[in-house]
Amino acid sequence: MVTLVLAIDAVKGFCDIGNMQNPRMKKIIPNIEDLMERVQKNRDGDIIFVCDNHQEDDPEFKRFPKHCILDTEEVEVVPQLRRFLMADKKNYVPKTKFNALSGNHLKESLAKIKPDRIITVGVCTDICILYTVAALRELGYEVIVPTDCVETFDAPDHNAEDVNNSILKHMADILGAEIIATQAGIII
Ligand SMILES: [Zn+2]
Repeated sequence: MVTLVLAIDAVKGFCDIGNMQNPRMKKIIPNIEDLMERVQKNRDGDIIFVCDNHQEDDPEFKRFPKHCILDTEEVEVVPQLRRFLMADKKNYVPKTKFNALSGNHLKESLAKIKPDRIITVGVCTDICILYTVAALRELGYEVIVPTDCVETFDAPDHNAEDVNNSILKHMADILGAEIIATQAGIII
């Protein structure tokens, strides 16, 4: 069985530097690290990082503070997960949209890898994770989301805990993704 871990925005700019740094993201990194460790040991395991790489004038900045500008430190994979990057960075895919399959070669890469299941991890549950899971399900992929490997942010009128709960339920009930409490429960 081919298992693919798709890590979304596991970069410094969503963790501990810049306008979008998020202490909640920091907390789930050890869980993602453990999952990747287990998947890497598997002969049929694959890991892909899809990461925001925005131009200075990206339209997204009309609604969000500037973040993850191309060629800045913010677009680098967080240090704890860097060892899962290939030396040639072949498994680092830049993105600019909420749907991680939009505007890059990820869709074609997945078609080549033919994963039996895609474990989606990273941030934010209600933004890039949600739209990417929707796109993957539309293409017919089996998707697993371990709740201890995804996060969102706390802001006024945006309680992270509440948002996580309702969006994960939506992914299960409407999109048909498999929501699992902890990555440790996934048999690799
Ligand atoms: Zn962005």
